[in-house]
Amino acid sequence: MTHIAVIGLGIMGLPMAINLVKAGHTVSGFNRSQDKIDKLVAKGGAGASSIADAVADADVIITMVPDSPDVEAVVGGADGVFANAKPGAYWVDASTIRPDVSVRLAAEAAEAGLKAIDAPVSGGEAGAIEGTLSIMVGGEAADVEAVRSVLDAVGSTVVHVGPTGSGQTVKAANQLIVAGTIQLVAEALVFLEAHKVDTEAAVKVLAGGLAGNRILDRKAAGMIARTFEPGFRVDLHHKDLGIVTAAAREAGVAIPLGAMTAQLMGALRAEGHGSLDHSALLLLVEQLSGRSSK
Ligand code: NAP
Repeated sequence: MTHIAVIGLGIMGLPMAINLVKAGHTVSGFNRSQDKIDKLVAKGGAGASSIADAVADADVIITMVPDSPDVEAVVGGADGVFANAKPGAYWVDASTIRPDVSVRLAAEAAEAGLKAIDAPVSGGEAGAIEGTLSIMVGGEAADVEAVRSVLDAVGSTVVHVGPTGSGQTVKAANQLIVAGTIQLVAEALVFLEAHKVDTEAAVKVLAGGLAGNRILDRKAAGMIARTFEPGFRVDLHHKDLGIVTAAAREAGVAIPLGAMTAQLMGALRAEGHGSLDHSALLLLVEQLSGRSSK
């Protein structure tokens, strides 16, 4: 049993914290808005009054906030994780952020006497609730082993992919694949509807062949029904595609389909759909096809 602090109790952080409680850990949670702290308390966690309060006795500190500046805000400053955590504690950043920021913050964590691990996740809200996330872990091998049982409580595929920052690089590749796949599934669905094909039957057979993929399994039904409750917000995927395109440019790698998908995600957001699920890319395909349903 370990004392774990979780900072950021949103769509992902709250169910992850609840699974840690279920695994028998002592979990103290902090979030910017109080209602989400109350939800953790209702499930057996402890509510913290500040970041300092959450991390004071923690052996492992998990941060799960939206973007690089949010992680910087949570770990830095007099009230942040680095100034208040116990020396020797493990800081596991599960947020998806820029790999270069992850490397810089890990160095700052080391100066503060903490051991940093980047552990971004994939699997969406359902994976967080079910405790079946895929977790891409970057950091020192010994540190990763030390927190493995904690990660195993929230994920079913936990893989150490390399040194600090590598987890974020692998997550960027993940987001490239997911966005591109959603776009192609959206195009296929609008195409099928235009031909008046039974889309549910089509999805069933497509899912069994080489076109089968997790987006068809998990998102197609919602796309057909035009329900776009997040899930994973367009705002967040826009952020991630910015990370991917910058990192690809740095490495001198061409990602033409990724760049196109990044433009489409940006356009969807610019149209005011940033708070919808990323599967709402379908709305843009409809619009470009003169077939808008909304
Ligand atoms: P979210 O629902 O927006 O949750 C973020 C939480 O962080 C919110 O509850 C927010 O509080 C809190 N927060 C932000 N800044 C804070 C601060 N300074 N101090 C304390 N709490 C703070 O986002 P999410 O969907 O859980 O995503 C979190 C991370 O996981 C992102 O990096 C995302 O890219 C990644 N991710 C998400 C999914 C997914 O399907 N959603 C899947 C894989 C990875 P408020 O309540 O005040 O806003």
